[in-house]
Amino acid sequence: METPKNISGRDAIWREELRNAMSAKERSAIARTVMPQFDPKERIKSNVEVNIGLTEEAARKEATRCLDCPNPGCITGCPVNIDIPGFIKNIQRGDLEAAAEILKQTSALPAVCGRVCPQEKQCESKCIYLKMGKEAVAIGYLERFAADKALEKDSQGKAKGHASLNEERQRKVAVIGSGPAGLSFAGQMASHGFKVHVFEALHEIGGVLKYGIPEFRLPNSIVDAELDNLRAKGVEFHPNIVIGKTLTVEQLIADGFEGVFIGSGAGLPRFMDIPGENLIGVLSSNEYLTRVNLMGAGREGMATPVLTPKRVMVVGGGNTAMDSVRTAIRMGAEEAVLVYRRSEDEMPARLEERIHAKEEGAIFMTLHNPLEYLGDEKGRLTAVRLQRMELGEPDASGRRSPVPVEGDIVELSIEMAIVSVGVSPNPLVPSSVEGLEVSRKGTVVTDDNLKTSIQGLYAGGDIVRGGATVILAMGDGRKAANRMAAQLSDDVKNFSH
Ligand code: FAD
Ligand code: SF4
Repeated sequence: METPKNISGRDAIWREELRNAMSAKERSAIARTVMPQFDPKERIKSNVEVNIGLTEEAARKEATRCLDCPNPGCITGCPVNIDIPGFIKNIQRGDLEAAAEILKQTSALPAVCGRVCPQEKQCESKCIYLKMGKEAVAIGYLERFAADKALEKDSQGKAKGHASLNEERQRKVAVIGSGPAGLSFAGQMASHGFKVHVFEALHEIGGVLKYGIPEFRLPNSIVDAELDNLRAKGVEFHPNIVIGKTLTVEQLIADGFEGVFIGSGAGLPRFMDIPGENLIGVLSSNEYLTRVNLMGAGREGMATPVLTPKRVMVVGGGNTAMDSVRTAIRMGAEEAVLVYRRSEDEMPARLEERIHAKEEGAIFMTLHNPLEYLGDEKGRLTAVRLQRMELGEPDASGRRSPVPVEGDIVELSIEMAIVSVGVSPNPLVPSSVEGLEVSRKGTVVTDDNLKTSIQGLYAGGDIVRGGATVILAMGDGRKAANRMAAQLSDDVKNFSH
């Protein structure tokens, strides 16, 4: 078999040995590993992480399946082009440190991505095994395995990073927002030797990773461990600072920050603009998840109020909708119905989330769309009228469009409706910076280098893309940091000549 490109001589030798140790036929006969998970009946009683993680034995066996393709499709399917066969083959030979090191070269938060990336649409969708009519190598599970092992080692104090001190360290840059875009930017900029300060509006650092994605999918301890790694690199976090209110971008620049990265996300929920949306009991998924995940609603000793009714409807088909319906089940809903206007094939949510939601009792009511909410004399939600839909021709998104079936309307009795039909960028930061170019959708406009219309100001993640994914936000943060670091170094050179 041909040696993969860009592999150093030493690595090429052991990889060739691994390849020769077992034939491709034997390796491809191994069945894909199954992720062990907690029993649905038990796990809905708490926030315990559903997926337990692979043992080292299972991970190494799964890694053996990878054929170490000469032209690996999986790398092209990954938005940040992680060297996938490289890290997998290191797992196979038991060098977990080298596996984690490869992940760290391109991903700031591998333990997060291993858990939340839609692998079946990205890297795994390009695995050669699919062409052979077999299941793809479990790349996401292996990424999680290698990253978790590295975090375990860090927590034992054996592999903590150190702030690299160089002359750039006297130079400081600011980050607005501590989601994956801001964190990835911060880590990369610190690696370039700059002093990085991250300003976050909320009292917790982590953006959607903390306030949106529930602990049963992504434990806070994993995010905190990744944050500790950034602190070890010298990154400073400032929670409870709302840029545009508490401090302005102009003040940051006046204070000596030479560059600013905007990673303020898309936290503004959309509603459907239908009658009854102001009734008590209709709320956005952002509000619901923030109350539960960030403000501790429903937890002993926490004062944050939240409704905990028995009959709940969630509208939408994305990850946020799945997180909301699964949270409502954990908060005591006996009937948790997910209403989506297309069929399940068109749902944007990750496959695993859909499977887990159903295992936990969520009822999928596809091809229905809310028309109107109904309430009682006290203004409390009592029911929703739903329009039945059918699938028509594909629309601009490439998915078959939902078309109303005339006269086919049903009424569903509910006490809470969680609306999860999309998000827009929060306008505070864009509107507070004079001259910043903003699109009609409210996203910040950048060039290919993620530079905004203002000198020294870069942006990335959901504030530029609208609601997207963790890995795309991280990729943006990393790219913007590389471009800003190069630009700031050039500025110094030009000045001194
Ligand atoms: P965010 O994560 O939104 O972070 C922005 C941060 O900026 C926030 O902390 C915010 O408080 C802060 N901020 C905003 N304004 C200011 C200001 N004026 N001053 C200071 N700070 C400010 N993607 C996946 O890939 N897989 C998933 O499974 C998945 N599940 C999701 C589940 C939910 C519930 C949600 C809401 C999203 C999910 N996503 C998922 C999408 C993904 O989380 C986002 O695309 C990603 O977090 C965007 O990163 P970001 O850094 O651009 O913004
Ligand atoms: Fe391994 Fe699949 Fe990638 Fe080939 S495409 S290198 S088999 S993960």
